Amino acid sequence: MSTGARAPLPEVVPDHIEVLRIEMALARPFTSAHGTETAKEVVLVRALGPDGSEGWGECAALGAPTYTGEWVDGAEAVLRRFLVPAALAGRPSGVVGHPMASAALEAAVLHLRLAAGGTSLAAWMGAVRDRVACGVAVGMAGSVDELVSEVAALVGSGYRRVKLKVAPGWDVEPVTAVRSTWPDLALGVDANGSYDRHHVEGPLARLDRLGLVEIEQPLAAGDLVGLAEVARRLDTPVCLDESVTAVTDLETALALGAVDHLNLKPGRVGGVAEALRIHDLALARGLPLWIGGMVDTGIAKAVNVALAALPGATLPGDLPASRRWFAGDLTEPWEVEADGTMAVRPLGPVRLPGSG
Ligand code: MG
Repeated sequence: MSTGARAPLPEVVPDHIEVLRIEMALARPFTSAHGTETAKEVVLVRALGPDGSEGWGECAALGAPTYTGEWVDGAEAVLRRFLVPAALAGRPSGVVGHPMASAALEAAVLHLRLAAGGTSLAAWMGAVRDRVACGVAVGMAGSVDELVSEVAALVGSGYRRVKLKVAPGWDVEPVTAVRSTWPDLALGVDANGSYDRHHVEGPLARLDRLGLVEIEQPLAAGDLVGLAEVARRLDTPVCLDESVTAVTDLETALALGAVDHLNLKPGRVGGVAEALRIHDLALARGLPLWIGGMVDTGIAKAVNVALAALPGATLPGDLPASRRWFAGDLTEPWEVEADGTMAVRPLGPVRLPGSG
């Protein structure tokens, strides 16, 4: 199908834009190579259209600048001082960088534009399925036994792919334990850039023998030459996350042979518009991709699930049920059925904590 022919949506200048900041307790702490999160600080954008419609966007930034350079305080400041005033004036912001803050505003305004165009996000983008396959990411645990019991619960819930966070010192032993417990599980790992080129002969080569579906971001985001070497040396597909912030990064990675799979996150690339450019290039080049997550509330999940319904999103995404992270979500809970799929649906009503 042609994905480049999406109908232009009406331009909408919001009447009002609010930047909100909330904190949500996590049902469990989440540890990766870039630190441990015990609560999710969330920056939200709420836009009101001239016709009374409401749009929401969620900023993917974490509580500290450890995944990329963005973090919640910086994102909130750049939204309040630069991005929101420009949007209310109907002019470009001129802001360089800050893709997660930009994506949150874009999503809020996009909801207004979709409403004005009488369509849904999934339909407008060219979704080809009404249920999407769900995988789940598992943080570093206190022990291998704890990890195996957490994975057991997730496998029992039906998730179609399990991704283990790894870093030097937490890799071959825990991954081997999970692999030997579930020999047929679609199992991947995510290093968040924590290895160096000299690890190729050591832990990366040993992980390569465990029948993984992919190794995500083994080396630092900017080391595309090193990632191309890893992709050549390992049989396991190399998946890029942090390395791809724009469609031009993906073009470079493809030219170097540094990418076998892609984790696409709208926040990381500045929003839905750039995510669609990346999706369309990946589809044209036959590059398998999946939609990633950032310990999202239901507001971001609505965007991620719609993206996962596109034809190029051929692999199960990091699309956990609401209850994996939050006792109460900001939207109707997102559920993973026993077959490991989640329904594609519009955002629906948003309820903030304390608003009843
Ligand atoms: Mg990742």
